[in-house]
Amino acid sequence: MNIDALRARQIPVSGVARAAAPFHLLVKPVGAGCNLACRYCYYPQRGDRPTRMDDALLAQFIRQYIAAQPRYSREINFVWQGGEPLLAGIGFYKRALALQRRYAPPGVVISNSLQTNGTLLTDAWCRLFREHNFIIGVSLDGDRQTQDAHRPDRRGNSSYDAALRGIALLQQHGVAFNLLVVVHDGVADAAAALYDQVTALGARFLQFQPLMLEGDAPAGGYSLSAANWGRFMRDIYRRWRQRGDVGRVFVMNIEHVYAQYFTQVSPDCVHAARCGGNLVMEQDGGVYACDHLIDEAHRLGRFNAGDELATLADAARALPFGRRKSVRRECQRCSVKMVCQGGCPAHLGPDGYNRLCAGYYAFFSEVLAPLRRYPRDAGGLALWRSAQPEASRP
Ligand code: SF4
Ligand code: SF4
Repeated sequence: MNIDALRARQIPVSGVARAAAPFHLLVKPVGAGCNLACRYCYYPQRGDRPTRMDDALLAQFIRQYIAAQPRYSREINFVWQGGEPLLAGIGFYKRALALQRRYAPPGVVISNSLQTNGTLLTDAWCRLFREHNFIIGVSLDGDRQTQDAHRPDRRGNSSYDAALRGIALLQQHGVAFNLLVVVHDGVADAAAALYDQVTALGARFLQFQPLMLEGDAPAGGYSLSAANWGRFMRDIYRRWRQRGDVGRVFVMNIEHVYAQYFTQVSPDCVHAARCGGNLVMEQDGGVYACDHLIDEAHRLGRFNAGDELATLADAARALPFGRRKSVRRECQRCSVKMVCQGGCPAHLGPDGYNRLCAGYYAFFSEVLAPLRRYPRDAGGLALWRSAQPEASRP
């Protein structure tokens, strides 16, 4: 048997092994270190003094992350997150980009996304992001009052002006960005106003994320009921349509329903049929199966202790949390399962039910209603698109 045949069977011969399927790995170059102190933060250890991933580990990681993807992968995406990943410093990302260029195989596109609170952005950061086509996610909770109530800095001061300054810089430099808004019971009545506030900033890509009941959130009195999640997202959907923003503003939660309905594939892990393809690596090389399951049961290994990324990625898919998503009885007979798939296992309550289930059902039922008469394939998508008013075709 020749070497190519052995590799095709995923048998490592030399160098770096390949994973059985493409995988994403979210990197936290400074772990949970952050300059803000969001009151609902799901990283309990964020108060630690940030330490940065060392350069040897960065180099090893970039080489392996590229080499461990299956041979047929044509795009490899690096996702940088924190805490606040800008605390790693601009030089860190310049070194990372140089390493990506060095290890990128011909014909493979390397892309980068980074999630930030926006408060540390400068012209220099934005120039780098523009030059290398980063997609930047900025966390912002709405107007000054809402942002400062939930996302103060570590001294308890306002973060609103600094975040807005960062967003303005991204716009001036033409950097692609989206706004990420955390949803909890405290903002559930304000969906339409919140939508107006964030779109008034010029944001065209929005994502609404349900509160994670981890870390500081429960002790801080935060909660999110299923009814409020459903009502909030339904109100966003209605506001989006009412304002004629279809095809102009992209609300990821809605766009993903459309995509999943017509292509049968979920663009995000929460509503994918299985978990296990979204690993996370801490700055010390600790690799976990998911950013929301940082515990011993979901710890896969320690990258700089010799574990190969391909082996860790394959192990993540085999863990029970990844396989059990929508096998629950209530999901099997649910009319929105096609776009819900049971949601995120990290949202399961002690009774085994997804605590956002009724909210998902309400939101997905409303978005799906006009889609259901179209076949779930490329032809259906074309038909549906042509039925939308021309000015608002998504
Ligand atoms: S546990 Fe939740 S966040 Fe993690 S991969 Fe699964 S769906 Fe995604
Ligand atoms: S709405 Fe509830 S029952 Fe239906 S698929 Fe989602 S989690 Fe399962």
